[in-house]
Amino acid sequence: MAVLDIVKYGNPILRKACKPVSDFSALPRIVADMFDTMYEAEGIGLAANQVGLDMNLCIIDVTHTEEADEPLTFVNGKIVDSWGESIHSEGCLSIPEVELEVKRPEFIRFRFQTPDGEEHVEEFGGLLARAIQHEMDHLNGIMIIDRVSPLIKMQYNKQLKEIAKNASRHVKERKPQGNFAL
Ligand SMILES: [Zn+2]
Repeated sequence: MAVLDIVKYGNPILRKACKPVSDFSALPRIVADMFDTMYEAEGIGLAANQVGLDMNLCIIDVTHTEEADEPLTFVNGKIVDSWGESIHSEGCLSIPEVELEVKRPEFIRFRFQTPDGEEHVEEFGGLLARAIQHEMDHLNGIMIIDRVSPLIKMQYNKQLKEIAKNASRHVKERKPQGNFAL
């Protein structure tokens, strides 16, 4: 169990389309560390590249709502369809102290694997659909600041520059094989 450093806006790994996971053997340890990290930061979702890992993996915990009764882990996720529209404010652990109104489809059809490799296609709505879209954006190199108008983004320019300036001193990309070898 370990709390990892969260990568902040300005770090290039947040702009990467993350690689599919093919070796599932290291996942239990990585996922446990990601949950420790997310809970420590009081987040409800976390994508692997937010802790410096280039892999299509994210975790979400919305057990404070009626929408899920356990924390969720999604591997090799892909949103295959979406419909409807909703606007809601979102924060991001990689962009501290910034909250933005983000417009997204309200419902999604989502294909993913569980950490044991099982394949699923399921439909989601509400907060869970929003959280999945936020994390899948991360895993495709997209952040909430890209989901608002240039005018809104401009209002945060100074704050973003400040975050980016500090980000470069922090986390480097991790190599899962080395870090998680027995
Ligand atoms: Zn985020």
